[in-house]
Amino acid sequence: MAKFKDFLEIEEGIWRQDFLYDIIGVVDDIGYTQRFQGSKKVQINFRLRDVSNNKICCTLWENYATELITYMDEKTDAGGTIVCMKYAKIKPAGKFPLTVSNTWTTTKLFINDKILEILNFQKSLDEAISNGIMTTVVNTSSQLMSQSSGSSMYTLEQKFVQNHEIMPLSQMCCLTRDTTCVTVVKTVKVRSNNKGWYFQACYKCPKAVSGDKPPYKCGDNHPTETQIWKYRLDVDVKYENTESTFTFWDREVAQLLEVTAADLRDQCHDIGLTDPLDYPTTIDKIEGKTIAVRVKWQPKWKNGSVNEVHNGPDFIENLIDQFNGPTQDKKSAVPNDSAVSENNTPSKSITASLDVVIPMVSLSGTDEIDPEVVSMKTPSKRNGASILSCAENDETHELIASNASSTKMAKHQKME
Ligand SMILES: [Zn+2]
Repeated sequence: MAKFKDFLEIEEGIWRQDFLYDIIGVVDDIGYTQRFQGSKKVQINFRLRDVSNNKICCTLWENYATELITYMDEKTDAGGTIVCMKYAKIKPAGKFPLTVSNTWTTTKLFINDKILEILNFQKSLDEAISNGIMTTVVNTSSQLMSQSSGSSMYTLEQKFVQNHEIMPLSQMCCLTRDTTCVTVVKTVKVRSNNKGWYFQACYKCPKAVSGDKPPYKCGDNHPTETQIWKYRLDVDVKYENTESTFTFWDREVAQLLEVTAADLRDQCHDIGLTDPLDYPTTIDKIEGKTIAVRVKWQPKWKNGSVNEVHNGPDFIENLIDQFNGPTQDKKSAVPNDSAVSENNTPSKSITASLDVVIPMVSLSGTDEIDPEVVSMKTPSKRNGASILSCAENDETHELIASNASSTKMAKHQKME
């Protein structure tokens, strides 16, 4: 089996330019990406992280780049992206920073393939996260892309709405089966519930864990050695005359409050608020915001489970315009008969109208783009705190809902 080159050794210059090396790591963020062959070669810059949190810049070119770009585009699962390169070359820092790159044809590229090396790396990655050596792994393509400065084929906004219905809250509330939609709401009030504003989470799955001391166990018996705190907030939301309650999960709450659940919990403990049922005033900052949300509407609970938020005013305006689009008269769009609504939902895409906002890459005339200068940003602390994908969120949602006999959602069920 391959002996992988140590990231620290690469950093320290313990390597030779005339040798090829085997490299493995999990994708930490994605930088400058040239998706199509034009005046420039197809290229993707990204950083790999090893299980000790060391990072190394990488660049893939042409066919190799296309393979990773395609993989990231099509990736739907929540796990990290492990990249293994055999026979890669290391290019010294010069005009561009030190980077690991493919050779013309010799390099073998594996992306989350079921080869022993990747399976073993995944195992040590899980252990490192469980032991608290690593924070969490950024999972989805949109999260990875959100850390770079754009220039991918899809903007953040396009990814936000991709393949989902755009509709006003009034229409969404009439849907009769679970549907993921994009809408605009104003956050009105945080609802307290008997679970509190945060919970202790499993390192491996989105479930809550229990136990007084490590290893904490989730419902699936995954042992978690460290304490992982995550937000879960029920928030009353409103659009025009329609009101509802949405559940916001860790990543989105951290995004809106600009503080991680762990940090806010620490702050609360410092002032003697040790009960998750004590809602600190910081939580209230989530109220009164007009935001775009991608949300899974769950008629069974009369509740929406939010899986992405966006608060750009232009984007929000654009979405609202689509509520009132030519195919849908605003007044008649509120169906009286809930059974009608599913057939009536407009199948529209915001993609076309957003084409104009795709950021253009400035063409510098050089063949390679300096990844450091162009877009390799250090991931923010906030991004490090999120591990949930939308699918996982929903699972947690159901878990908590089914466990909590007296939660708001359970009450809804009784009311029906
Ligand atoms: Zn678990």
